[in-house]
Amino acid sequence: MISQEGALVLFSGGQDSTTCLAWALARYARVETIGFDYGQRHAIELAVRPHVLQQLRASSADWDARLSEDHMIDLSLISRISDTAMTSNVAITMQENGLPNTFVPGRNLLFLTVAATVAYRRGLTVLVGGMCETDFSGYPDCRDDTIKALQVALNLGMATRLKLETPLMWLDKAQTWSLAKQTGGTTLVDLIRSETHTCYLGERGTLHDWGYGCGQCPACELRARGYQRYTQEAI
Ligand code: ZN
Repeated sequence: MISQEGALVLFSGGQDSTTCLAWALARYARVETIGFDYGQRHAIELAVRPHVLQQLRASSADWDARLSEDHMIDLSLISRISDTAMTSNVAITMQENGLPNTFVPGRNLLFLTVAATVAYRRGLTVLVGGMCETDFSGYPDCRDDTIKALQVALNLGMATRLKLETPLMWLDKAQTWSLAKQTGGTTLVDLIRSETHTCYLGERGTLHDWGYGCGQCPACELRARGYQRYTQEAI
């Protein structure tokens, strides 16, 4: 059953947001995407986005018909007002507050607030994001409570009834691969393997069975371990 509501998906070009986009394309009549350029260390994330969109369109005539505009938003102010391993060339380390320095404070809050503003203009009533409590690196802005509180704040502040959907919230990485399989079959799994980008270091030289990446950084480790468990459990 396809909902006639329109959805806006936070789409970075990574495994999680591509899975969320497919999830939305299977549910909503009109799906738009939004991406943020915030001075990421490696522009590769942004570079793969159009290829992933193109491949998703090619994989299904229904999805092609439902997939609408893509919005790219310049949020380079994030790299000007914060100093993290995601936006400057420093080693990934653990900070005193227990959070890795890949954490960009306020990033998801800002992303969702900007997305809500775009959704308001476009008449879209659902925001979809890949936030996840299960495998997350302790990022407080990925927590379910944070997202629920923000949904309340946004709707109070804009007099709207926006729904913030987070289909990956309680899934681990193996289950995220399974969700892709359920949503778009092996075509989608292969698309995610070969087209999406997750690696913190921007490495894209070798295609492993789980996709491209350095294989060493926290994002690659999670992705590779999840894929391994997914393939073992699928047997
Ligand atoms: Zn990596």
